[in-house]
Amino acid sequence: MIAEVVKANELTKIDPVFGQPSFNDHEQVVFCHDKDTGLKAIIGIHNTVLGPALGGTRMWNYANEWEALNDVLRLSRGMTYKSAISGLNLGGGKAVIIGDASKDKTPEMITRFGQFVNSLSGKYITAEDVGSTTADMDLIRDVTPYVTGISESRGGSGNPSPVTAYGVYMGMKAAAMHQFGSNNLDGKKILVQGTGHVGETLIDYLTKEGALVQISDINEEKMQYIAGKYGAKIFNGDDLYSADVDIYAPCALGATINDATINKIKAKVIAGAANNQLAVEQVHGKILMEKGIAYAPDFLINAGGIINVYAEIVGYDKAEALKRTENIYNTTLEIFHFAEANNITTHQAAMQIAQKRIDEKKKETAK
Ligand code: NAD
Repeated sequence: MIAEVVKANELTKIDPVFGQPSFNDHEQVVFCHDKDTGLKAIIGIHNTVLGPALGGTRMWNYANEWEALNDVLRLSRGMTYKSAISGLNLGGGKAVIIGDASKDKTPEMITRFGQFVNSLSGKYITAEDVGSTTADMDLIRDVTPYVTGISESRGGSGNPSPVTAYGVYMGMKAAAMHQFGSNNLDGKKILVQGTGHVGETLIDYLTKEGALVQISDINEEKMQYIAGKYGAKIFNGDDLYSADVDIYAPCALGATINDATINKIKAKVIAGAANNQLAVEQVHGKILMEKGIAYAPDFLINAGGIINVYAEIVGYDKAEALKRTENIYNTTLEIFHFAEANNITTHQAAMQIAQKRIDEKKKETAK
């Protein structure tokens, strides 16, 4: 009893939602619970100025509920800026389901989650993310229209990864143009970390263009398969981050540009698909700038996936989605110029341009 009182007192020192470090003017946070199916989910709606909040549902075995809340707050904010910089009329949102997708997920749980999404009447639109699949989105579609990334057989856009890879390829070419004075990747030494859904298609584009691709993945079998299929070399040095390459493409996990790696990086361009590549945006973005490394902001160049699912909302047209994704090339170049002209990092430049679009729309709507 005493312990409970102490705990309660300690808890009053923390503001659990609005006081969270990741809370950043989010509009709405919805906690969803269903005892029968074991569903515990949080939907984060960061901003809906530009349109409904779209973002995937991540199912993850979080260590605790704080971690899940922190993740949904961070990820939903990221979606606001990704859509804004990509010129989409979408806001930012994300959902997390607490649990191990390989063990805890059931069709009943996903359906129940879909009902919660439906209860928001379109303010939040869901899609796939880590731990959720096209098949899950099809189940959700049975109970709500507010879902994208459903299977092609049901009129959806299917797997977004190839379009994401195309956008990363465009962003990389733009970064090369800025850094090397040519967007030609023929003969460029490029290290791709992560040979998954996005990494594989990116490797395909790069090897076709004549780049000298090295790859790395913790999944040995997959890496061997990709190496054989595309003629890429497996990175065999001691330390991936010290690799003697022109371009580093993080396509596995986030925060690989951090205190431990940043001073080893020899690449002159960083352009990849992984979300949140900079461990601390302001700190590591600035160090890259000072070192003269051209960093293509992750949330800008990996937006092909969301551009693809957006097309599903406004009337799916693959050609239009690819055209918009191709435009990542021009936007990335603009970001490099804007950053240079204002002596700010490319990450800051992309954030400022995205925020300006949101502010202008807000002003226009208030009139
Ligand atoms: P994926 O799970 O298919 O592939 C990730 C690959 O990275 C796997 O092969 C995995 O074995 C490997 N990996 C994990 N840890 C590693 C490590 N420490 N070193 C080397 N390899 C490692 O994922 P994906 O769909 O290809 O996405 C890749 C990244 O891009 C993720 O960070 C994802 O969040 C981001 N992203 C993906 C999309 C999309 O459309 N799929 C869109 C935007 C952003």
